[in-house]
Amino acid sequence: MTVETTPERKEFQAETKQVLRLVIHALYSHKEIFLRELISNASDACEKLRFEALANPALMGGDEPSIRLIPDAAAGTLTIKDNGIGMSRDEAIDNLGTIARSGTKRFLEALSGDAAKDAQLIGQFGVGFYSAFIVADKVIVRSKRPDADAVRWESDGEGAYDVAGCDKSDRGTEVILHLRADEKEFLEDSRLRQLVRKYSDHLGLPIVLEASGKEETINRAQAFWTRPKAGLTDEDYQAFFKHIVHDGGEARAWAHNKVEGAIEYTSLLYLPKRASFDLYDREQRAGIQLYVKRVFIMDKAAELLPPWLRFMRGLVDTADLPLNVSRELLQNNRTVEQIKSALVKRSLDLLEDLAASDPASYLEFWNSFGTVLKEGIIEEVGQRARVAKLMRLRSTASADGWVTFADYVARMKPDQKAIYYLTADSAAAARNSPHLEGFTAKGYEVLLFSDRIDEWVVNHLHEVEGKPLASAASAADDVAAAIQTPDHAAAESAFKDSLTRLTQALDGKIASARVSSRLTDSPACLVAGEFGISLRMARILKQAGQPNPLGTLPILEVNPKHPLVERLKEIADPGAFGDLAQVLFDQALLAEGGELEDPALFVRRVNKLIIDGLADKPKIILS
Ligand code: ADP
Repeated sequence: MTVETTPERKEFQAETKQVLRLVIHALYSHKEIFLRELISNASDACEKLRFEALANPALMGGDEPSIRLIPDAAAGTLTIKDNGIGMSRDEAIDNLGTIARSGTKRFLEALSGDAAKDAQLIGQFGVGFYSAFIVADKVIVRSKRPDADAVRWESDGEGAYDVAGCDKSDRGTEVILHLRADEKEFLEDSRLRQLVRKYSDHLGLPIVLEASGKEETINRAQAFWTRPKAGLTDEDYQAFFKHIVHDGGEARAWAHNKVEGAIEYTSLLYLPKRASFDLYDREQRAGIQLYVKRVFIMDKAAELLPPWLRFMRGLVDTADLPLNVSRELLQNNRTVEQIKSALVKRSLDLLEDLAASDPASYLEFWNSFGTVLKEGIIEEVGQRARVAKLMRLRSTASADGWVTFADYVARMKPDQKAIYYLTADSAAAARNSPHLEGFTAKGYEVLLFSDRIDEWVVNHLHEVEGKPLASAASAADDVAAAIQTPDHAAAESAFKDSLTRLTQALDGKIASARVSSRLTDSPACLVAGEFGISLRMARILKQAGQPNPLGTLPILEVNPKHPLVERLKEIADPGAFGDLAQVLFDQALLAEGGELEDPALFVRRVNKLIIDGLADKPKIILS
């Protein structure tokens, strides 16, 4: 039994008001999208019903899911009616009156206050139900869940809404739009047909136009992915993409495949143009939609794609899983495993094709999603080589462009044994690092990594294209040997004494000191031991709370040709020697992007050096 009750007035949440106002103003030039959004909601509600009916077939009753569009010229209303799952009173309040979805909150935080920029942002973001207020000055929603009393929700979009019980007995939702005086075009048959064809033709359920006493199905009513590829245009694919992502964005590329064999399934994978707000949140459920025999089973089936491909969107429809499949069942399921590994390969195919056919577009992809794709190097040993080929890298051989490992290998010098790289906190810091000097002098190219994840990437990527990777900042003998200059041995013996004193003066900070071949301009640098982690990695781990991540101390390398280093040989006084040693160490640490233990002391020591230099004293005497 359903009863009409006195309406209860409620205020929209503060954010909801803000969204409403923005939506109405910003989207006015695309006002027709309201129909796509409301039809999409109706279609989702029908899919939810189909799903719940799997466990409880009585829910479905006799009528198949459908969506009806009912224009009423006399009343000036357009009704979008579905026989889907419907909403209870609480659901109507939660879903239509508040902004629960975290994406919306983040969206609001991203707003700048600049109208033009914000309009663009709204375009990137799904606005869903609220788009009704672009064309309507009053919206009434009447809805009934099979297991709850019917609810009536009404608002003029000005800040408050009314909820009440109502006398709707059939299942589903009616959204009644009281169109603004100048929006009557949306009452016209031809306009509605045109919009349904444009935006909603791909939905797998009938959209029926009820007008002039007649009923007519005006869409194709066949699930998009079941249609033959040959008959589908780019616009069709883009329209379906908009339906599944709900964020108004566009797809960059897609792969649509029907697989017949041991396992039968159809997959439609999309590479979006833009990153979603939660891309970097690994906890956020990502993944693609799962259908079983055309029935929508779940959104974000994370079991179907690994986290490092979480930017992909799309769906899989298979006949080889039971209709009542649960998330638990998806885990450790052989069929799911097989589909997943096929989808990983398809995603990589898609990326490789894009990289080959449209390099500029591929670089845009890389800029948006490269750091996520790189996680694949760490997580998926089997695909490491393919992911490495897809990487785009900064390099000393290219000012601000990108290079590939293949470019690098093709340019390697005949005597060059390894692919050299350097990690730093930014591309600029990497490019100006003292560690590069010796490599530049030899004409060796060095790859420059500056994403946090790169520390892990290089630790997992031991070899690419048959060549080993080596850090330009490593103390490993073969790296040092690669850039060794002929006068190295002479310099080593000349500085033997100073090196011993340096090691003593910097006891507890360095493992040892040695003469460097790496440096041409800078006085000193720090290198990590051969098997030690990089100093930057140690810093990242320390920030993350690990007390002594490095394990071993770094090695201080000094440039024998640098005047400051030459001075070392002349200083007899242990205090003065210690000060200069500290300055060299602190400078090397700063050049690494590291933090000084006592910056004020460093400044005092450097100033003293400068003053002594200015006074042109024959010997620096530091206190
Ligand atoms: P989104 O669809 O992106 O979640 P909307 O603002 O369009 O955002 O809708 C908010 C919620 O309201 C939906 O998630 C759904 O729970 C509910 N809703 C909207 N339209 C309907 C409908 N026709 N039937 C049932 N529930 C609906």
